Amino acid sequence: MLANEIWEAALGELQLQLTRANYETWLKDTIGLRLEDDQLTIGVPSPFAAEWLEQRLNSLVRKTLIGITGKDLEVLFQVNHTEHHPATTRSRPRRKGNSSSPAGSTDARRTPLYAFNPKYTFDSFIVGNCNRLAHAAALAVAENPGQVYNPLFIYGGVGLGKTHLLHAVGHMVGKGDLNALYVSTEQFTNEFIKSIRERKTEEFRNKYRGVDVLLIDDIHFIMGKEQTQEGFFHTFNDLHNANRQIIITSDRPPKSMPLLEDRLRSRFGWGLIADIHTPTLETRHAILQAKAEELNLTVPQDVIDLIAHKSQRSIRELEGALNRVVAFAKLTKSDISQELTARALAEFPDTAPRHSLSVEFIVATVADYFHLSHDALTGKGRDSKTARARHVAVYLAREETDRSFADIGRGLGGRDHSSVLRGYERIANEINNDAHLRRDILEIRDQLYSKNADPVPAHR
Ligand code: ADP
Ligand code: MG
Repeated sequence: MLANEIWEAALGELQLQLTRANYETWLKDTIGLRLEDDQLTIGVPSPFAAEWLEQRLNSLVRKTLIGITGKDLEVLFQVNHTEHHPATTRSRPRRKGNSSSPAGSTDARRTPLYAFNPKYTFDSFIVGNCNRLAHAAALAVAENPGQVYNPLFIYGGVGLGKTHLLHAVGHMVGKGDLNALYVSTEQFTNEFIKSIRERKTEEFRNKYRGVDVLLIDDIHFIMGKEQTQEGFFHTFNDLHNANRQIIITSDRPPKSMPLLEDRLRSRFGWGLIADIHTPTLETRHAILQAKAEELNLTVPQDVIDLIAHKSQRSIRELEGALNRVVAFAKLTKSDISQELTARALAEFPDTAPRHSLSVEFIVATVADYFHLSHDALTGKGRDSKTARARHVAVYLAREETDRSFADIGRGLGGRDHSSVLRGYERIANEINNDAHLRRDILEIRDQLYSKNADPVPAHR
């Protein structure tokens, strides 16, 4: 029997034994390459797939093969860029404005250009108000590349999920017949400079021209690099003209990139610009819960609370704190408790908890944001602008601190519990329908955490 026939038979059985997601992700695009002595070589599309299959499926695959061949074959998973499983080589669907397909056959274009991180998927991405727009836009674009927003420009601070979203799009696009390529701006720059040095700019241009979905990460690194901007300008135009999808991430919006050519700045705004903010306490909770589940851990609610309160600035920081607690529990062979968590997080001064937000600080920041004086905000004035700002202060104080409504009332010039509660409820209701309000609150929250991130006082 030929290697491919054996493998086809094995795939048929494996498909019944695995979840659909696992089968589709890891096995669907594999092929039986060679049978030599007692070793069967399987071609897989990426190094990640090879590693995953070897670690997780080796024994199941061997057992299945014994059933088919009667022999205990050794199985080797090998990255295979050229040969394709006949059953999975579908023809490319025609897309609007894409009739003049660039150089390269359909087959070559099916070869994954990039191995996306299996952890960064839409499934593992937790959605909260801070990232709802960016997530929805990324999903829409992944489902209809080149058809909805082009480019999609996502910006936000470090550790907030930009790279995660790019990979998620890459995974989803890769399941269809289109090719996605992820490239960091640094790598793009290096390749471009190299292509000039080696007089291979045409090759460079063709490589990027052949991509259906270009995911370019951290474009702010292109600031001040004039030659690379020129190169990116042409790449952008080639792709955009052919209705190929472009997704760009940055740590700031295009308007805040002074050392960027105007023609690029304006192109970045052609599609949709979506921002990601720091997560709220509620979202931080949800993320920790999900990460704990991913690690197969039961983490008590009070511990989740503690970590969510202490790590505020980014999701990476949140993950880091959880990992640290888990490692600390293992090292000291203790259960994950609140005491242990407090100790684990205190032992690492570099990422030690920042001083937490106070009601006073929130009131001052909100007053500032709405151009009101502190006295006006905490005073008796009831004009709609002032009242609205006051409600926002209540809402943020309640969401971002542990203080009771009574405490918050005191911080706002001695207001009683019930009026504070009404203010809170009002905002909590309106925030779902009022995009302006949501934007204001997200902006103020970012200010709270960025101002608050100034050097931690020494007396901690
Ligand atoms: P950025 O590129 O914005 O600096 P990353 O995409 O690298 O941030 O995210 C940092 C870490 O946080 C990654 O491990 C990522 O999986 C995780 N992460 C970010 N956002 C989310 C989210 N919404 N849900 C789950 N994990 C997230
Ligand atoms: Mg990143």
